[in-house]
Amino acid sequence: METIDTIYINGAFVAPHGQEMQTLVDPVTEAPAARIVLADEVDARRAIAAASSAYHALRGSSRTQRMEWLQRLYEVVAAAEEELSMQMVEEYGGPLRTSTATAKRAAASFAAARTLLADYAFERQIASAKVVMEPLGVVGLITPWNANYGFICSKLSMAIAAGSTAVIKPSELSARQTALLTRVLHRADLPPGLFNIVTGRGDTVGAEIVRHPDIAKISFTGSTAVGKAIARGAVDTMKRVTLELGGKSPTILLDDADFAKAMPLAALAATMNSGQACLAGSRLLVPRARLREAEESIVAAFDALRVGDPRDPATAIGPMVTHTQYERVQGYIRRGIEDGARLLTGGPGRPDGLARGYFVRPTVFGSVHKDMAIAREEIFGPVLVLMSYDGEEQAIQMANDTIYGLHAYVFSADIARANRVADRIVAGRVFINGLYDEPAAPFGGFKQSGLGREFGIFGFEQYLEPKALLGHEHPL
Ligand code: NAD
Repeated sequence: METIDTIYINGAFVAPHGQEMQTLVDPVTEAPAARIVLADEVDARRAIAAASSAYHALRGSSRTQRMEWLQRLYEVVAAAEEELSMQMVEEYGGPLRTSTATAKRAAASFAAARTLLADYAFERQIASAKVVMEPLGVVGLITPWNANYGFICSKLSMAIAAGSTAVIKPSELSARQTALLTRVLHRADLPPGLFNIVTGRGDTVGAEIVRHPDIAKISFTGSTAVGKAIARGAVDTMKRVTLELGGKSPTILLDDADFAKAMPLAALAATMNSGQACLAGSRLLVPRARLREAEESIVAAFDALRVGDPRDPATAIGPMVTHTQYERVQGYIRRGIEDGARLLTGGPGRPDGLARGYFVRPTVFGSVHKDMAIAREEIFGPVLVLMSYDGEEQAIQMANDTIYGLHAYVFSADIARANRVADRIVAGRVFINGLYDEPAAPFGGFKQSGLGREFGIFGFEQYLEPKALLGHEHPL
């Protein structure tokens, strides 16, 4: 069994001060897979001190220097894509297709940040003022378990491009992926302290990062509940915060949509990353006049999704990450039945033929009322609720009837109409007639799905602060 007993501070792998042990379990076999020693507050403070010294030493690093660091990071991560992807499959149970894409995106984020940095205007004239975009200082990057490499690399790439240094607190549930990624990032041979990686619990390491006065900004991806706690904690030292939180995203099929084309995409949107995706399209809104056809069509699309061994390239849905997550999803399935929703496919328990592992049955509920827990709360598993609407106006109203606003999907035969509906959806991103990936476009949520944006120029500027200089050409 693998043992992970180092953290990464000041360019070196060191033993943590923390002594608490945690066992990670293989989600496919349910057998213990790794023992990790968790870092604690003392380790967090050591990492923050290292990042602070590095920030002072590297302050004023040139654009060319930072582009060079990003290039090196890109090269080492790209060279390790396959190894990274396999570790994600092993630890997380991410189906191969998701894991491969995540590892690729992780590498690509360094290349994208480098491109952005090449052209970014750090100085501009605004009327009589010279405005300079300054780095914030040491940033704390706190990430979840559902796409470990993607979040770490995209946040780190922006921090480095901006001229900051970083303390990264990944989820303790992805310690094996983090350990591998750390070894890979170390190969880039960057200045010590530029980035530090401290795996420990949220209420110890995470809380210390939130509290510490030397952290200038936090970029957090995770649940809305923890995001709120971070925002509250950050205000004492007036840290800047970017929060990427949960969602309950609608997929709207307008009454002219071709269900044969749209439903397989709606099923994918609902079950991407085994349903453990913040942007999952987990509420399907269909016209009442076509309800029966919609039910048949989504059931066919769900039943075509293969659940099982994440190493098999044909697998669409792997296990849930942990027993806790498995139980949480099972709890929602039972709750849906108790609340009177109708099971269209799936249900409690494991899929046939899978006696162990945290596999759940891809589940679609019909006859769902908007006030049911399954219609309102983020489930984070392959569970879809189907609701019907009367008319476009009601479809829009139902789509927006949520505390979240991360994402939405719209399908229509009439592109002008689809765009009209998309305009009125309160969400940070809307996909029209397909599933896309555009890392240069801003990503983030309205309402309780978060604060601020990541990726591209909008994401980059969240790591910078404008400073106005007046009289800069005025001799005394
Ligand atoms: P989580 O909120 O439980 O944990 C996220 C991270 O925060 C972990 O590293 C955790 O250790 C840390 N943390 C926990 N308590 C903390 C505290 N008090 N102070 C500081 N840090 C703390 O989320 P999770 O279960 O790891 O991930 C699933 C959630 O993440 C889902 O709700 C999902 O929607 C969300 N998510 C959002 C996005 C997005 O971009 N919007 C992307 C992926 C996941």
